[in-house]
Order: sequence, then structure tokens, then C-alpha cells
Amino acid sequence: MSGSSDSAPGPLPIRRLQESVINRIAAGEIIHRPASALKELIENCLDAGATSIRITVKEGGMKLLQIQDDGCGIRKSDLPILAERFTTSKISNFSDLSKLTTYGFRGEALASISYVANMTVTSKTKSDSCAWKACYSDGALVPAKEGASAEPKAAAGTDGTTIAVENLFYNTPTRLSALRGSAEEYARILDVVTKYAIHNPHVAFTCRKTSSNTPDVSTPSGSTVPQAIRHLYGPTIAKDLLYATVSHTEEEDRNGSDDATSWSAEAHFTNANYHAKKTVFLLFINHRLVESAHIKKALEGIYIGILPKGTSPFIYLSMQLDPSSVDVNVHPTKREVHFLDEEAVIERICNTIQESLVAQSSSRAFDYQTLLTGGSSRDAKGKGKERRLIEEEGDESRSGSSTSASTPAVKKILSQHKVRTSQKDRTLDSMFPVMAPSQVTGQGGAPVSQDDDTPPVRTQRKIKEIERSECYLMSVRELREEITKSQHQHFTEILQNHIFVGIVDVHRCLSLVQHAKKLYLVNHGVLAEELFYQLGLRQFGNFRRIKLDPPPPIKSLISLAVEVEEGLQRTTLNKEQVTERITAILMDQREMLVEYFAMHISEDGLLESIPLLLGDYTPNLDKLPLFLMRLGPQVDWTSEQECFSTFLRELAYFYVPEPLLPEASPDEDSEGVGKAVAWQIQHALFPAFSRYLVPPKTLLDRDVVEVANLPDLYRVFERC
Ligand code: ADP
Ligand code: MG
Repeated sequence: MSGSSDSAPGPLPIRRLQESVINRIAAGEIIHRPASALKELIENCLDAGATSIRITVKEGGMKLLQIQDDGCGIRKSDLPILAERFTTSKISNFSDLSKLTTYGFRGEALASISYVANMTVTSKTKSDSCAWKACYSDGALVPAKEGASAEPKAAAGTDGTTIAVENLFYNTPTRLSALRGSAEEYARILDVVTKYAIHNPHVAFTCRKTSSNTPDVSTPSGSTVPQAIRHLYGPTIAKDLLYATVSHTEEEDRNGSDDATSWSAEAHFTNANYHAKKTVFLLFINHRLVESAHIKKALEGIYIGILPKGTSPFIYLSMQLDPSSVDVNVHPTKREVHFLDEEAVIERICNTIQESLVAQSSSRAFDYQTLLTGGSSRDAKGKGKERRLIEEEGDESRSGSSTSASTPAVKKILSQHKVRTSQKDRTLDSMFPVMAPSQVTGQGGAPVSQDDDTPPVRTQRKIKEIERSECYLMSVRELREEITKSQHQHFTEILQNHIFVGIVDVHRCLSLVQHAKKLYLVNHGVLAEELFYQLGLRQFGNFRRIKLDPPPPIKSLISLAVEVEEGLQRTTLNKEQVTERITAILMDQREMLVEYFAMHISEDGLLESIPLLLGDYTPNLDKLPLFLMRLGPQVDWTSEQECFSTFLRELAYFYVPEPLLPEASPDEDSEGVGKAVAWQIQHALFPAFSRYLVPPKTLLDRDVVEVANLPDLYRVFERC
């Protein structure tokens, strides 16, 4: 269909083509990868009451993803509309579903799959005498073979439904190329199957590759959650599992306020004896597998001080919430969930888990309780009292007073013990022992000065300490670790103890610094870019803001940059479309941008704030349009870690004190600006280099050139 209209001229056919492309793109937004399609298909089987679910995969699910269940089946008369958007048989709990899955899953899963793959459904209800088979494309029935009728055909089959998804993303090459290769996609599929198998131990699951007869996941029906965990994650985890439940009923709300909600939670989690490299976290809310960085972080927090540093627990948490209190928040790769009274609910769950960990691990209880009492003086009477306190506070927050009034008090216990343990952590700061200025200047050798009026100044360390934010996202931790790993020791030393001599060339970003007896020409632009990247990671999720007043519309800013951009010939889109596209991407990511990067874009597209990376340093706002424009193509919005690192790289690039136009004519105005820039470079940037920058090994040769040294010390300061 799309092939024939390709060459047709005129506006009408082109418009049609775009519409089908848009449908595909929309479907691609919902179905990210084979594993996300599978998740929807599994949920449908479970909704259909299946007791056995068999999954077959070819090439990581990109060639074939087949799922067979023994559920209620689909009536023949329903087959024609099955893959139309918004068709669902789940009317009674439709609102529940829509609350949990606002990102398009209201009878949209099968429709979406049919837009990006060849889908075949074979189904038989108990009352049918045979199964019926139907093929779908772009939301509608299509013939299995060219020329044949599209009507469902009688076929052999047992009770239940088999759905085969073939050639996923065959018509969306970009989405296809964003996938990671069949091994990794298969691993993600196994992960989804494994998690659903744990949550549904009464259902038998199997998952295998077409090329193999032995399944990679195979569970019996009728087991229990701990049995399933043992089966799928191994006996090591299973023997160290603890169990806890918490619930909250409306009656507990003494004043019965309107937003009172009932909820319950059930958790299986490892004790102090078990530790793994990465946290395994399974979260089901109302039986849907979801993600919540927030809950994960809170749970991991309990284990700090219980587990050896750098190790993590296994946690399975299943929560049942009033569906009307659940909301889904869009994240680059995942669907993150938020719900009403989140803080209070998480607090209750954490405390319950904490108690059971403490009670279980008597040998470690002493340590742990010390931390607890250290954090809170009202814990003297033990558990019973603590629980009451927490419940009171929970009530308070529900009865209308702000949650912030109650949660910090409870939180204190947790965060206090976080603080205590994190003091032992090796931080970036610990690599920067502060040296007395005399230690450096005392080594003699008059610093070289360019200008008699401005004698060389040892850079000040008066700047306010920039705290490293607590972050439990694995992706961010790994990025932070990468910095530490690639640290160049010798250059760290130089930067820590350098003396700023002067700026040589503002446009080419060159400055002179002295270290001991040597003089170095450094590219402060390159250093600054690295510094700002690192400051971005350091403050991840906890930035101060630069408020823009009045807030400019992002679309106009992007349009400004797009207008002057010359590399657009390669795309078929005109400038307006490019602007629209980039604006849409940023609007889509609004919630993530404000949560993690303090980059606040209002609902109507105004840029309210940008993150402040370094006090006393304001980025050149002339670069703002370019920054926003580059966020479109330069940031990889599809994978969490890449998204964060590419975003932070762009942010850093924006912050670099490089003039926008390399050889701007030196009029009076720009001279004033130049002075301000020079001031920032000397008084904000260079002190921050010595304080925060962990120079990577890659920098030295290119960007730091030794220009002079005293020959008699040459041997001692040999370059590496
Ligand atoms: P939703 O699950 O939100 O209703 P879907 O697009 O996932 O939307 O499914 C559409 C409808 O197709 C379902 O409501 C259900 O009636 C039917 N269906 C899908 N998969 C199955 C299955 N495995 N067994 C029985 N019915 C199914
Ligand atoms: Mg569904």
C-alpha cells in the first residue's frame, strides 16, 4: 500500500501516506520493542483466565513472537473488530484499565501491534466446534494470501487463543534499528516472562526459541510465589527470603475524609544474608508490571547499612491500589507509575519491610537499631510505638494537611541512616584533598602573568559546596562510576593545585595555568564541557534552577535555531516540520525533564527554568535556542542510560563559555560581555575545575599542553 503511493505526485496521496506513517509512529511509541508487545499479550492471556501460557520466539521476537493460551478464547464474531483501536471486551473494568495504562492501552494493544507487524490470531471458545484464524494489518482484517478473502477461516485448534506477531517493526525501520540485537531483546523477553511467572504462580509459563526444544523458562502451574522465585531465580535467593504484608482500609481513616483509599501490599524480599550486584526489583501494581524509580529507591534505601556496600537485594512487591488513585507518568523507555498518597504508602511499606529485616537478623540488629535511634528519639519504646506514630502521620496526610508536613518526620529515620552510612562512602570530593595555598605557592617560582594589572591569583575555594545527590538509578550510578574509572591521576593533581594565570584567547578557549614549576596551556572549553557534564551527573535529580522570566516559548526558540541550521538538506522535512517535531519531543519528555533535570516546560510550552549547574556561573543564554534544537536529534530518548548521558552532554555543551560566533566584531557591548565571561572563567570555572573536575585520561594530550618548565625539575615531573 505504501509502496504504490510513494511516487504519486500531488498533495492528496502524500497526505495519506503521512497519516499511515503517523499511525505507525504512534504504535511504535506504545510498542517499544518485542518485550513490550509481549507484556501486553501476556496480560491479555491472563485477563482471559489462562492457566497455561506458551511463548515461542524467533530472533529476539523481531521475526516471530507467538503466544498461546488456554483462556476463554475470542468469539468468531469479534474477530473482525479485534484489532481496531479502542475495542475491548473489558467494559466493566475499563476505567480501571485506563487509569493504570493511560499511555495508550485502552483496547489499543492489539491495534498497535497490527500497525507495526503482521499479526495472526487463532482462537477457539469452548462452545465453538473449531478454531478461527484471522490475519491483521493496520488495524483491520487482511487476507492470509493475496487474492484470498480476509474473512476468518476455520482452522484446527484447542480451546484458547494463539497470537503470532511476525516481522515486528518491518515498516518502521528507525524503530527496528533502535533495537539491540536478538540476544538482548530475547533477554528482555525472558525478563518479562519471568516476572509475570513469579506474579502468577498458579499459571504455567513456558518460553523458548523456535530453534530449541528446551524452554528457557518453564514453570509448573499451581505453585506459590516463593516456589516460583526459587524456581526462576534460584535457591540462593529463595533461602534468604522474607515475607511481609501491609494493608490499609478505609475504616482506618478515623475522619473518613474523601480521598481515603484502601490499599494493600505484599512483599517477598531477601534478608541481610543475601546480596547481589544489582537490585532485582519486581513491582506489580494491580497485577500490571510497572516501573517506579521512586519506590525502588526507597526500598533500596532500607538496605543501606544492612548489606555490604555496593551490593543489592531482591525485592518482589505487589500492590493493590484503588485504580482511581493510580496515574501513569511517561518516561523515555518505561511507564512509570505514580499514585495518590504515594509517600505515605511507600513509607508504610518500607517500615514494615525494615521491621521484618531487623527482627530476622538479630546479629545485625544492634547496628541497625543504633542507626534507627540515632535518627529518631521517639523510637524508645520499640516497634509498637513506631508503628502507631507512622499510622498517625499517615492519617494526618490523608485528612488533607499537606504530605510534606508529615512525611519528613517519618522519613528522618531512613534518611538519617542514609546520611550516616553515606559519610563512609567514597565520594568524588574525597579525591580532592584541600591543600593549604602555602603548600603550592611556597614552592617558589613566580607565576607568569600576562598582564601587570591583574597579578596571578590562586583560585579561591570559597564556592559553596555542591552536594552530590543521592541517586539510586543504576544508570546514573554507572555513569558516575565511569567517571571515576577513567580518572587521570596526574592531571587531577595538576588541576587541584593549579594557579590560574590568565586567559590567552577567549574565542579559542585557551588559558594558562601554573602547577609547581610548570606552565600549561589548557583548553578551558573542553575542560568546562567535561566539568559541566560531571556536575550534571553529580546533581542528578536535585538541581537548583535558573528561572527564566518571562519564560520563552520553546517552540520559538527552537525555530530560531532551526532557521539558521544548515545541515537540514538531508531530511525531507521542512524547517517548520523539524521545529514541530523537536518541540513535540520535548513536550513529550516534560515530566522527566523537570523531575531529573529541573528543566521546567509548562503545559503550554513555555520554558520556565533550566538547571543551574554551578553557582556564580550563568551560561550564555544566546545558546539556548541551539541547545533546545540539539536536544531533538542529539539525545537518545529511547534508552534510559543513553538518554541521561546524551542529555547531560548537551547540557554541558550549552554551558561551555564559548562565544556563539567565533570571531564576533569587538564592539563596545561585546567587550563588556567579554569581561563578564572572563570573570566567570577565572572566578567560577577554574575554582570548580580544582574542586569538582575528575579529568578523564582522554583529555591530557589534546587539551593540556605543557608550555614551559624549569629544566632542573624536569626529571621529577616527568609526563605520563
Ligand atoms: P484490552 O486488553 O485493553 O481490552 P487489547 O487490544 O489488548 O485491549 O485487546 C483487545 C480485546 O481482545 C480484549 O479486550 C479481549 O476481548 C480480546 N483479547 C485479546 N487477547 C485475548 C486473549 N488472549 N484471549 C481472549 N481474548 C483476548
Ligand atoms: Mg490488553
